[in-house]
Amino acid sequence: MGITIIGSGYVGTTTGFCFASRGLKVNIVEKNDNIVRNLQNGVSSIFEPFLDELIRAATEASRVRFFSDCAGAVDDADLVFLTVGTPTDEVDGSADLSALWQAVREMAPHLRSGAVIVVKSTVPVGTNRSVAELLRELRPDLDFSVASNPEFLREGSAVRDFFHADRVVCGVSDQRARDRLLEAYRPIIRAPTRLVFTTPESAELSKYASNAFLAMKVSFINEIADLCERAGADVGHVAKIIGMDQRIGGEFLAAGPGYGGSCFPKDTLALASAAGRLNTSVRLVEAVIDVNTRRKSQLASRVMKAIANGGSPKTVAVLGIAFKANTDDIRDAPSLDLIPHLQAAGCGVHAHDPVCRAKAEPRLPGAVWFDDPVEAVRGADAAVILTDWDVYRQLDLRSLAAALGGRQLFDFRNIIDPTAAAAAGLTLHAIGRGSSEPPARLETWSPDESPTAEPVRFARQRSALAADELRNGVGE
Ligand code: NAD
Repeated sequence: MGITIIGSGYVGTTTGFCFASRGLKVNIVEKNDNIVRNLQNGVSSIFEPFLDELIRAATEASRVRFFSDCAGAVDDADLVFLTVGTPTDEVDGSADLSALWQAVREMAPHLRSGAVIVVKSTVPVGTNRSVAELLRELRPDLDFSVASNPEFLREGSAVRDFFHADRVVCGVSDQRARDRLLEAYRPIIRAPTRLVFTTPESAELSKYASNAFLAMKVSFINEIADLCERAGADVGHVAKIIGMDQRIGGEFLAAGPGYGGSCFPKDTLALASAAGRLNTSVRLVEAVIDVNTRRKSQLASRVMKAIANGGSPKTVAVLGIAFKANTDDIRDAPSLDLIPHLQAAGCGVHAHDPVCRAKAEPRLPGAVWFDDPVEAVRGADAAVILTDWDVYRQLDLRSLAAALGGRQLFDFRNIIDPTAAAAAGLTLHAIGRGSSEPPARLETWSPDESPTAEPVRFARQRSALAADELRNGVGE
């Protein structure tokens, strides 16, 4: 089976090399020459754990070919995956589909009869139908199918998520599309993952509904965190307790600086916009967007208030610019809002991030960058941890305290041990903790187990890809 991927970003690169790792022949079309050059040299242009290993293996086995346009890349393809970006249209918040239409126009002359075009990009409900209409217009001679196959992977664990998805959704309107997608995914999927076949409309909407629901959990727990601060409760305990209810689930209940990244912000906006176009509304989603938008300025104000004494100009060190750990993606990262708020209030900003400096530096004029977190906080009035990178979890707090001019450490990811911070002489401002006392441990007891007392606030469980899983992933 021949597979062509159009658009080699986070989703396209992962998809292409994961399919190739299972022995499928893959062509990748990418219009950005730098990305193509890097791939030809066996190098990924994005930071994504385990992707480099897959690229190396596929390159050695000559399973992937790279193209800067569709000519020669789609002629033999049984499946053509569209994985181009669908960013926010700045005018009305809808999904900007211009890259998708462009890609369809570019591939149309080269498609072979019987090809199945798969829209993997996140697109508003009805887009598959419009893709089919456009193709019929461009190629009235062509026998083809269009299918929806929305992607649910998370940056930072994209490879793992591709191989171990909760579900793979296929929106199909004919048997050919169904059979082709089944054939492609058969070598990838292992129980308990399931392929789910539905209509293209339900598949398209399931992606937006899923992201909006997860964004809602994030905004919900952030509001509960604010309440905890007023009420003397601990959001770590509250999140753990509500997450133990299987109807709710424990994921996406980490209070923090608000959601960011390339999906939740744009997809919630696009869902609200699509609802408007269909003469209905999604008021919960609109509230989620509102809560998330305000969060960054509220947190910036919290920092400013704590260091406002005296009239001298202040400096804040921001640790973590990527929207979350294990990615270099800065799209809609909370840092891109919070830092300008600090600067507008007259603050100087020091910045540190272990991987995304090159991408972020041009986006944050005026920020002074450092390669080392302790150097970044040197002489600053306050430090703010904004991304849950392990390097910040492992900070030597005594060295940090010695370098930091002020005592104030804002831990907007709740990853710092309050007892250790206090011992280092730092004034720790965590999220959603109403007491300045170190938080109590959350004790659980069950008749079959000995009691456990676990600190619930520090670690968000990161799903690591075990070595054997990777071996399975890159095997034939
Ligand atoms: P991206 O911006 O990282 O990558 C898109 C790539 O497509 C770019 O490299 C761009 O140069 C290329 N491209 C655009 N037009 C092209 C054309 N005509 N021919 C060849 N290449 C072209 O985007 P992404 O983050 O990979 O997201 C892609 C889609 O997947 C989006 O709709 C997004 O919402 C969705 N999605 C993303 C994620 C994620 O975590 N990033 C997760 C699930 C779904």
